[in-house]
Amino acid sequence: MDKIIDLEKKYNLFVIEDAAQAIDSYYMNRDGINHPLVSIGHVASFSFHMSKNIILGEVGMFDGNDEKYIERAEIICGKGTNRSFFFRGEIDKYGWVDIGSSFLMSDINAAFLWAQLETFDFIQNDRLLIWNYYSNELKEWSVKNGINLPKIPHYVSNNTHMFYMCTNSNEQRNKIFSHLKKENINSVFRYVSLHKSELYMKIGAIQTSLKKNRFLC
Ligand SMILES: *Cc1c(COP(=O)(O)O)cnc(C)c1O
Repeated sequence: MDKIIDLEKKYNLFVIEDAAQAIDSYYMNRDGINHPLVSIGHVASFSFHMSKNIILGEVGMFDGNDEKYIERAEIICGKGTNRSFFFRGEIDKYGWVDIGSSFLMSDINAAFLWAQLETFDFIQNDRLLIWNYYSNELKEWSVKNGINLPKIPHYVSNNTHMFYMCTNSNEQRNKIFSHLKKENINSVFRYVSLHKSELYMKIGAIQTSLKKNRFLC
């Protein structure tokens, strides 16, 4: 993140943190302070997709690190109106001021999320116990088989979102998959990196043919 922020400053960029998996994650930058992820870029989001530590259907959370982003988000969420400003008594009438839709969370969803936030420490502690169990119990086996287990650098915290293994080959990966499946343990492999994705390859091909490299990087 230090490097990204340096680039942001140098080229006057806008940083959006995809912190989808990163609830309860901290990053120590060169000031030596632990910064929660979502607090480093201009805007950020958490996901509450069913695969994350805290879940709520397809809901996510927006975070703006400047009043102006939060104000606009409130308007966009409020059908393009400045109604929330009106409810707070900041303006004397409200109306449409921007684009928007009805992105507000329902009461039932809010209650479901609230209960998880109330027990968040419990959720995280439980996950950490399981995560540490995997890490300790698989250590010897992973060394023997040349498999890399997660390493947590000193400058980040572990929110135990994922326990992953890097295998040496697809064959080895598939063997582990079928073994786990036999034991009724669900495991998945993750997406390819963006620069190797089908879309990016297509863009890359168009880019080359147009020889306009300055538009995309
Ligand atoms: C889960 C995830 C997303 C998608 O989150 P949604 O809430 O489904 O939109 C995006 N980025 C990363 C890194 C994720 O892990």
